[in-house]
Amino acid sequence: MDTNNSAAEGPELAEPYLREVLSTAGLAVEYVRAEGNTLYQRGADGGEIPVADFAGGYGSVLLGHNHPDIVRCAQELLAAGTPVHAQFSRHPYANRLASELNRIIHRELGTDEPYFAIFANTGAEAVEAAVKHAEMDRVMRIAALREELERSAGAARDAVAAGGAAVADRALRRFGLAGAAAPAETLAELERHLAERNAAQLERPPLFLALEGGFHGKLGTSVQLTHNEHYRTPFRALAAQARFVPRDRPEALKEIHAQERGVVFELTVDGGQVDVVEREFPVFCAFLVEPIQGEGGIHVLEAGFAEAIQRFCAEIDCPVIVDEIQSGMGRTGTLLASAQVGLRGDYYTLAKTLGGGIAKTSVMLVREARYRREFEIVHSSTFAKDSFSCTVALKVLELLEADGGASYRRAEERGAALRAMLESVRADFPEQVKEVRGKGLMLGLEFHDQSAAESETVRGLAETGLFGYFLAGHLLRAHRVRTFPTASAVNTLRFEPSVQLADEEIDQLEAGLRDICALLREGDGARLTGAATG
Ligand code: PMP
Repeated sequence: MDTNNSAAEGPELAEPYLREVLSTAGLAVEYVRAEGNTLYQRGADGGEIPVADFAGGYGSVLLGHNHPDIVRCAQELLAAGTPVHAQFSRHPYANRLASELNRIIHRELGTDEPYFAIFANTGAEAVEAAVKHAEMDRVMRIAALREELERSAGAARDAVAAGGAAVADRALRRFGLAGAAAPAETLAELERHLAERNAAQLERPPLFLALEGGFHGKLGTSVQLTHNEHYRTPFRALAAQARFVPRDRPEALKEIHAQERGVVFELTVDGGQVDVVEREFPVFCAFLVEPIQGEGGIHVLEAGFAEAIQRFCAEIDCPVIVDEIQSGMGRTGTLLASAQVGLRGDYYTLAKTLGGGIAKTSVMLVREARYRREFEIVHSSTFAKDSFSCTVALKVLELLEADGGASYRRAEERGAALRAMLESVRADFPEQVKEVRGKGLMLGLEFHDQSAAESETVRGLAETGLFGYFLAGHLLRAHRVRTFPTASAVNTLRFEPSVQLADEEIDQLEAGLRDICALLREGDGARLTGAATG
């Protein structure tokens, strides 16, 4: 078999419509090799055409494409016949990886509470695992709550039967009950009423909280936690729902809580009186948050908002799932971007760069205080936790931590250089560029909305809904630079290159962005679509 990449003959059967859409924007090109911060196309003369890669596998190649040490590690594993498939056996490599993740996280968070690791294969899968675990925990808490309610009711029944207590009048009045002649019958009436009211709460499905603009994956459950309606609404019926909190209104947390909270009623016996108290019902299953929203347009979570989320979740005992799938693994100068804003997760999800650009692996981490070990029996994946992925991921951590964390510092330093360039473009083109956002090597540049542009061709680009894709097409065609808009905010181009990013590549991108801004200013939409150049 020919392992060289080459354009396929015959009809396109692998997502032909997507290819058509990519073609429209000039992005349906083939890459035949990848190395460092560069992807290569094959030219008509058979030679390679280098493309500076700022898309970085959507955040998967922080250390660069095919990093030689990671490739060597993979080759050695395969040459040694590593047992990739040895499910349901001891997995010391997975344990080593979990320990190393814990060591780094403890350093960054200043805690020594263990985080248990459940491995998965993709980002969305790690989110699903976290959400499933949170729901299992919620269901177990509800079961415990039911038992407590039953125990309290039993105690009330015993006290009334022994003649030591009777239902308080205020309890009857509160629920509009008449009461009966015999104290035991009055209690039975109250119990029936409360059981009915409680049943409505105890059967409530989980409700999730997430931020507007957030992205947590596109699988059955995770897509319901992803704010983009286009992805989410066709599949509403498949899974539990979320309430989305606006990024600029932390006070919405309390409003949503007031609208959605539930209480159950518990009987108490005190001083010869049977009364009723309210207990908070755990309807909020988890709060999902990205420290830096990736697909939502590269928005950094402010420390103040992070604190508000943390406080709110502690108050209502709702676990926080910190989704570091795009922001994590060193991209912002620390393994966890959230550590920099003081956000402490009950859960973390990591993927993308965890696999070093070669393995497909992800992990969700749960703090000990929340951990339900029963989860290990009910959740699994054929492919997860394998020797190949875990050892490659260990190599990634080794490379990040080497030389006293030189890669983290490099991500910060390269990010600062890239950001300075983006800011200079914004300063020179304030009419075209709205904002530069992000941290480290997770940066975004938002263009002003062009749907009311004077130029018909520029307006036309905006109206396609693919604005950023056309800009990306132009950058690729005319400047050999690869980038993409963020998935849910197509006016924002994202830049997530590797730490190997060279100054010359920053210059190359700068030339491309200045060219785009000039074309927008001139109203030359045709050049941006490639129509003018064919
Ligand atoms: N969460 C975040 C924050 C992401 O950025 C992504 C992917 N862009 C996902 C989850 C889903 O990851 P995957 O595509 O590997 O399923």
